Amino acid sequence: MNDCFIYNQAGSFVWFVTRYHSAMRTTPKTCLLCSKPVHGRADKKFCNDSCRNLYHNQLNSETNDCMRSINRYLRNNRRILQGILQQKGPFQKIPQQVLQTSGFQFLYYTHQQPRSKGAPVFYCYDLGYRLLKSGYVHIVPLNERNYLFQ
Ligand SMILES: [Zn+2]
Repeated sequence: MNDCFIYNQAGSFVWFVTRYHSAMRTTPKTCLLCSKPVHGRADKKFCNDSCRNLYHNQLNSETNDCMRSINRYLRNNRRILQGILQQKGPFQKIPQQVLQTSGFQFLYYTHQQPRSKGAPVFYCYDLGYRLLKSGYVHIVPLNERNYLFQ
């Protein structure tokens, strides 16, 4: 229950309402999406589940679009690494140009693992690469050993 002071236009106190909160509860609320009246609990914001879902979907759609395209890059990167790995095997020197011409996006990776020697390994999920000097990469599959011996 909140107290509410009501002032006149001159700014002097004219009224004191002790049941402000219950007075607010009787005020009809409208749905945040469709503006229809909302009935039920005092903290209810939507007229039904459909409006609530649509409202939140619209709110998150920009974020979802961004996440979707990043996930697409990550999956594509992993697919390229997997293809090279199946052809050449792990830890083979591959020209970085091979990844670039396949559409590999070097900006996107899920995590990186620093190494005590040399460049870190950048992973796209369970497959990674390590940039070597002179424009080559090693394709590195993630396994327990990668975590144990950095
Ligand atoms: Zn609604």
